[in-house]
Amino acid sequence: MKPRSKKYQNRTLPKPSSTKQPKAEPSDAILRELEQNVRRKLVLLGEDPDREGLMDTPKRYAKAMRFLTSGYKADLEKIVGTAIFNEGSSEIVIIKDIEMFSLCEHHMLPFYGKAHVAYVPNGKIIGLSKIPRIVDAYARRLQVQERLTSQITAQLMKTLKPLGVAVIIESFHLCMMMRGVEKQNSYTITSSMQGVFRDDARTRQELLSLLNLGGRR
Ligand SMILES: [Zn+2]
Repeated sequence: MKPRSKKYQNRTLPKPSSTKQPKAEPSDAILRELEQNVRRKLVLLGEDPDREGLMDTPKRYAKAMRFLTSGYKADLEKIVGTAIFNEGSSEIVIIKDIEMFSLCEHHMLPFYGKAHVAYVPNGKIIGLSKIPRIVDAYARRLQVQERLTSQITAQLMKTLKPLGVAVIIESFHLCMMMRGVEKQNSYTITSSMQGVFRDDARTRQELLSLLNLGGRR
């Protein structure tokens, strides 16, 4: 006998019952699927997902990953909101040592460190707390440090239209520390500069001396 075609099988599926069930949020469905996936991963790694310590691990891991990648859904316009103010100053503004946690897209392992963000206003300034939130919005994704750095720069250029933006990120990559070359003390520095920081050597020099990088740890 010929096996039933998929099409045919689909057509004979019972119609969904009309009794109203509370519809699961799509995000709940995704979380549950992630959980199943993590459970399977534990088995493949030789673990027993039913042992006490691991019982809730798929749920916790799925939630954690959703949080650590929540930047995809971040609404940058909303984050900045009304926190842009007219201001005549055109002196460098620096927010230094912003804690930064991200996931490398090659290994899905963390990289973490500090971001330093500077800009030169052009009639407008931004509420200082918004800058770390912009960093988080781009860090909470699967990233490479190079792209993260330039995305933050681009966002500030777009939002503030300042005379210049500079973003410097220093970070440790667990994929380099725990595996691969296993280097514990090397950190990666990336920088992205636009406007006066790129075009004017004196402004850039002022920034670098204000940041006083290199003397850390
Ligand atoms: Zn990596």
